[in-house]
Amino acid sequence: MVCCAVNSCKNTSAKISKNKDGITFHRFPRDLNRRRLWEIAVNREEEWSSTVSSAVCSEHFDTKDFYITESGLRRLAVDAVPSINISACQAPEPTISNLLPIDVSPTDTEEVIKLKYKVRRLEVIAENRKRRLNIMWQSRRRLRKQVERMKCIIKHLIRYKQDKRCENK
Ligand SMILES: [Zn+2]
Repeated sequence: MVCCAVNSCKNTSAKISKNKDGITFHRFPRDLNRRRLWEIAVNREEEWSSTVSSAVCSEHFDTKDFYITESGLRRLAVDAVPSINISACQAPEPTISNLLPIDVSPTDTEEVIKLKYKVRRLEVIAENRKRRLNIMWQSRRRLRKQVERMKCIIKHLIRYKQDKRCENK
């Protein structure tokens, strides 16, 4: 049985099924540096360290950490680090399992299932782009404000320079 390494998380492979709950388990990376990042991220007691069977469930990864292959398999990005729903004190954040419930009915033909996977893949991409767009809108607003401030400063400087010139005459 695989248990999620996050202290506050009760997900185990015995309780969770990928098809029913949309939750997957992901083993700690082999790379030592990245492994250490995961160990720190799961917020365990100091002497705790991961083993070859340690895993973190998909509820702790941002939706943008996942991608779906052409064949419909959900994969975790190589540089992903657990980042959400770590502490029970924080408000829960949406995860890939509640963003994209798996919905394949027994009457679906292979063609339909393939198309459903394709739609899901595009949904993930659309969701990530929406987020990026929001961030860009925010930075656009910030930059516009900065430009306004700069314009004001320049105006003041020009006036100051003109005043100085008048004084010198
Ligand atoms: Zn978990």
